[in-house]
This record gives sequence, structure tokens and C-alpha cells, in this order.
Amino acid sequence: EVVTRFAPSPTGFLHIGGARTALFSYLLAKSQGGRFLLRIEDTDRERSTPEATQAILDAMQWLDLPSDGEIVYQHARQDRHNEIIDQLLASGNAYYCDCSKEQVDAMRERARAEGKKPKYDGTCRERGLEAGEGRVVRLKTPLQGSVAYNDQVKGPIAVSCEEMDDMILRRSDGTPTYNLAVVVDDHDMGVTHVLRGDDHVNNTPRQILIYRAMDWDVPEFGHVPMILGPDKKKLSKRHGALSVMEYEAMGYLPEAVVNYLARLGWSHGDQEVFHREELHALFSLDNLGSSPSVFDTKKLEWLNAQYIMEADPDRLTDLVMDVIRAEVGDDQAQALDRAMLRKAVPLLQPRAKTLVDMAEAARFFLVDAAYVQYEEKAVKKFLTAESLSLLAEYTDALREHENFSEEALEEMTKTFVESRGLKFKAIAQPIRVSITGRTASPGLFETMVVLGRDQTLARLNRVQD
Ligand code: GLU
Repeated sequence: EVVTRFAPSPTGFLHIGGARTALFSYLLAKSQGGRFLLRIEDTDRERSTPEATQAILDAMQWLDLPSDGEIVYQHARQDRHNEIIDQLLASGNAYYCDCSKEQVDAMRERARAEGKKPKYDGTCRERGLEAGEGRVVRLKTPLQGSVAYNDQVKGPIAVSCEEMDDMILRRSDGTPTYNLAVVVDDHDMGVTHVLRGDDHVNNTPRQILIYRAMDWDVPEFGHVPMILGPDKKKLSKRHGALSVMEYEAMGYLPEAVVNYLARLGWSHGDQEVFHREELHALFSLDNLGSSPSVFDTKKLEWLNAQYIMEADPDRLTDLVMDVIRAEVGDDQAQALDRAMLRKAVPLLQPRAKTLVDMAEAARFFLVDAAYVQYEEKAVKKFLTAESLSLLAEYTDALREHENFSEEALEEMTKTFVESRGLKFKAIAQPIRVSITGRTASPGLFETMVVLGRDQTLARLNRVQD
């Protein structure tokens, strides 16, 4: 069985790069009928916060990447990590070392001067020191040979043992180090495939040494290249939002973000839109690129528009209501006509890039005639004295007109203009500006139908005052 995991350190929000790594791990498991697990690496007590843990859990939930098992908290497993360190000591694969930081620095300096790779020189390897104050535990790295593995993304990687330190497994304060904890946790969780960021590629040969020393099965490893901004520099704040949840606030649908992130480094022919089931079926490491991908906000927007178009209008109504609520506050949002918004949503779906766009475009549907905001330019251009007198006649005709269906309104309006020897154009924009306040809106007659007879007439009257 394939078991993958995502192992974030809770030192801040879940960023786009982390979310992509999580998604790839998740999809790798799903594509193989396996399990995906979540581990919170909260061992750094100074930098880990409960808020950051919660932020990561929230983002994972928003993206709908649930763990197929209990969430593991690394810090709670310290005793287990120390138990393994004790086993490594007992089996002769690890040893105590009392070299001071100054001594180790001096060794590194010497090696550097001799043109060698700076590292701890193994002074304490054969001293047989017992446990004691201020002593660390180090792994006995083999003196010869190498660590080779086939990186699932980068291809074959080999590092000679001479290049590697006798790394510290337990610090002098008794706490296990990162590399040790990761190996023990991945082993205990039954992880078969470790997918993680590029920045960990140097840890992997070291971690493999620990697996070997414990005589444990070594999982497959894959290192995902980083994400770049449009200027080909590492994606950072100045390129735009980094936090996954900021994308929620900007009005993106989670399925659009998932689709976008999946395509950021992975491909399947030239297909762009992948629904979740398709991703589960089609994802494979074979199509995972080994060079960095460039973040493209336009493409994310485009995908979001696709998903908005096909989303269930009831769900969108709730989401757009949330956007409006965030903007105007609970009290004002309470007063809004949800039923009206629900009727407007299908009209807005084909034209919106984000939920924030939709909320903005929905505004004129939701306010009373007296509160419609009019674009100044639109008023100047389309509500001239001439068009206002035409609108007055039109309003009279509309008041007499019983049937308020789209077809009937269109028919009636055509007759109205033709009988005056005019084109539809002469009145279309004046009506639109009167009832929406803008020059761009959904179709004129469908908008009138959704607004209803009373609101339509009230707005046409208002512009004539
Ligand atoms: N906790 C590490 C990080 O957030 C990831 C470790 C791993 O995936 O092995 O960078």
C-alpha cells in the first residue's frame, strides 16, 4: 500500500508552495488507492504556534485534503524519538560527543584550509563516552561508500559518505534533531513515499543513513522544485499573495486553486481543467516536471472563472453572501435579500472571474432603487435630456405592460422603438444605466426580470427626478 504524508512546520500560514506539495502527496496516494497522512512538525517550540497549526488545518480543510488517519503531532513523540536514539547508541551506530562548539568550528576551519569539505572530524567516535551533561549524540556515518537513491522527481542522486558529517541526533539539551524525528515518524507512520520541497534534498541522504542504521525499509523520495514568480525569482510576497487562505479572501474557489496547483509542475497532455476525480485517476509522478514552475495569476483567474461558471448557484449564493458580509458587516448583510441574490447569481456566473467580482456585480440587484449607485460617466453619456424624455415614454408604456417575461419585454421594447423609427440601441443603454447604474451588466431583459416589475419601474422613475 502506498502511504504518503505532508509534514508542515507550523511557523506561519500554509503557503502556495506548501499546498502544492501537500496536493501532490495527496494525489500520489489517491492515484494508487493508498493513504495520505498529515503530520504537524511542531518540534521547534520557539517558532511553532497553535495559531499556525490551526491555519494549516483550516487551509487543508478548505482545499479538501483530509488526512486518512489521526493527525500526528511530532512534538508529542519525543520519547519515541529518544528511544530510537538509545537503540542506535546500543547498537553502536551512534555515540556521545562532548566537543564544544568552538572545537567543532575549529575542525571545520581546518578542513576548509586543507581544501576539504568542512565537517566534524569524528574526534569522539571511538572514545566510548557515556551519557553526560552537555553531550550530544552523533550518528556514526560509514567511512566509506555512498548513499544513492532514485529521486522520483529529479532522477538518480548519489552522495559519498565522506561528504557527510557524523550528524547530531540528540542535542545537548536532550531534544532529538529534525532529521532523526522525521525518519522515526515516517517509519512509524508506514510512509512509503516522501514527496517534499526541493529545500530538503540535502537532508535525504542523511536520513537514509538513519534508516540503514536502524535496518528499516527506506521509502521512495521525491523533491518537488520550487515555484517562481513571473520574473523567474523565487515566489515571494512581492509577487502577490502567498497564503492559501488569502486566495479564499480574494474570491477563489478551492477547486480552482486545487486544479491550478496540480497543473503547476504536473501535466497530462495539454489538458487544463481537471476535476478532482480526474486528478485522482490521472496523477502520476512520471508527468511531474523537474524544473521550477512559474506562478501565473491570469491562468488561476481563468480557471476560477471556469469553475464559477459550472458551480451550483445555491452554493455560490452562500459564498457571495459571505463576501458581502465580510464587507458590510453582519447587520447590513442580514437585511439583504438572499432570494434576489439567488436569482441574480446565474446571470453573473458567465462573467465573473472571482466571487469578489460577483459580489461587486450583484450590488445593484440587492439595494433598493433609492440606493443604486450611478457611474458618473454612464449618466453623462446615456441619460441626456433627449434619452430621458424617451425613457419617460418608455416607462409609461412599461407600466401598462402586463407580461414581465424576458420574451414579452423584448417584444414590447422592439415595438416601442420601431414605432418611433428608432433602433434598439437608442434605448438599450439608457435603460441599462437607469436600472443598474452601469454600462455593463448581464442581459437587459433578464436583468429586468430578476429585478422585477416594481424595482424596474422605481429605478426608471428615479432617474427622471
Ligand atoms: N517540516 C518540513 C517543512 O515544513 C518538511 C519535512 C518533510 O517533508 O520531510 O519544511
